[in-house]
Amino acid sequence: MNYRSTRNNSVSVTSAKAIAQGLSDEGGLFVPENLPKLSKEDILALCDKSYPERAFDVFKLFLTDFTDDEIRHCVNGAYKNSFDTENVSEISHLLTGTYILELWHGPTCAFKDMALQILPYLLTTSAKKTIDGKKIAILVATSGDTGKAALEGFKDVEGTNITVFYPEDGVSDMQKRQMTTQEGGNVNVCAVKGNFDDCQNGVKAIFTDAGLKAELDKMGVVFSSANSINWGRLSPQIVYYISAYASLIKNGEIEYGEKINIVVPTGNFGNILAAYYAKQMGIPVNKLICASNANNVLTDFINTGVYDRNRQFFTTVSPSMDILISSNLERLLYHLTDGNDATIADWFGKLSKEGKYSVTPEVLEKIKADFYAGCCDDAQTKAAIKEVFDSYSYLMDTHTAVAYKVYQDYKAETGDETKTIIASTANPYKFGAAVYDALGGETEGVDEFTIIENLEKLTGTTIPAPLAATKGKEIRFKGSVEKQEMPEVVLDFLKK
Ligand SMILES: *Cc1c(COP(=O)(O)O)cnc(C)c1O
Repeated sequence: MNYRSTRNNSVSVTSAKAIAQGLSDEGGLFVPENLPKLSKEDILALCDKSYPERAFDVFKLFLTDFTDDEIRHCVNGAYKNSFDTENVSEISHLLTGTYILELWHGPTCAFKDMALQILPYLLTTSAKKTIDGKKIAILVATSGDTGKAALEGFKDVEGTNITVFYPEDGVSDMQKRQMTTQEGGNVNVCAVKGNFDDCQNGVKAIFTDAGLKAELDKMGVVFSSANSINWGRLSPQIVYYISAYASLIKNGEIEYGEKINIVVPTGNFGNILAAYYAKQMGIPVNKLICASNANNVLTDFINTGVYDRNRQFFTTVSPSMDILISSNLERLLYHLTDGNDATIADWFGKLSKEGKYSVTPEVLEKIKADFYAGCCDDAQTKAAIKEVFDSYSYLMDTHTAVAYKVYQDYKAETGDETKTIIASTANPYKFGAAVYDALGGETEGVDEFTIIENLEKLTGTTIPAPLAATKGKEIRFKGSVEKQEMPEVVLDFLKK
């Protein structure tokens, strides 16, 4: 199976090429030419398998240019020892029929680990096939969680180095501490005076800068991306939705064929797009519920068909969703326009020039058939954390709480009683101050570690070991730059 660019249908590359390259030359995203389908037998066969085995079966459909041994090397390396549960992800129950899919059992306590533990394996395997001998320089723009997960995934991986840019004032204290204390000889972390979109645009500009590319060529280096614009980052996310459906069957919660809703707290539209792909492949899904915080550009888009990023940017208690440009929407729209590359290039050209585009009524209708969208503010997010803890003794993080609240609104509006999976994207201790505050705890002037220790005492839950371990670590990266200086940061690091 080959991969096309969303902005140029004449591009057709192997999965190894798509993963090694990250982004197509003209700025389009790589998408599979056709989506493989899972039959009833395929899905039932997954029920008795482990997570790495399930991942193997799914990757085999997408990575047709990889050998079985290569795929096995990737899935086992990623999923056999790095997670704090053998199942890799866990499903908790609130009420009957409302399931919390905990995707944060990896080394950095956010769902990004589900993909970023395997991406280095996929990327180095791809590089051997396509760009032999060259070194890969990974560039990451992060709203907080991708950065740490990518650093942890790529640290000391031979033939690679990684530079992470994060918005100086746009991440939680714990997120910043996790990144700036990162160990490893091939890692670089830098704050940017701006928001996540500035970081993301800066990285995209570096990718498409012909002069820089020429300079890299001389050094025998190629750029690649660990953001969800990379197919190697997105495809592992499809696995856990398919796996969750198999687990619900296995646990006797549903029967094969029963539809479920999936609620996803959304920023860059990667996680929910993976759920959409799972649906297209044959997982029975009723609605995909797209939950946003006060940065509700996606809510407006899904409800009106107009994408308009010209609006106030809010810094919220769910910072990993503080995004106004959701890159992966480009992939969805490519599919919904039946692969109309010219239209996609036009819309996304408008987005970068005017900050705005509108889809046709036909496309909007297709979006609404699959998706529901809603949003909530910080006060509602915190109220949801408190409500869920008081009612079910279950502690959720701020992002998961946005999803929970939007799901409550959806149920009230539609009366839909379909069984539902809520994607839980981070461990609550990653956003300890906001979570403790939501439960009525005192956070003003209290340091991060005292807060999370107090949260432990209040809730009887436990600080995950990787977060506790950041306490005594040296801060290695103190740099902060204007966004125009990002290319220089990258070059300086590569020349070292
Ligand atoms: C990245 C992230 C999100 C948003 O996911 P997207 O794939 O960008 O939509 C939500 N919650 C948490 C905790 C995250 O780290």
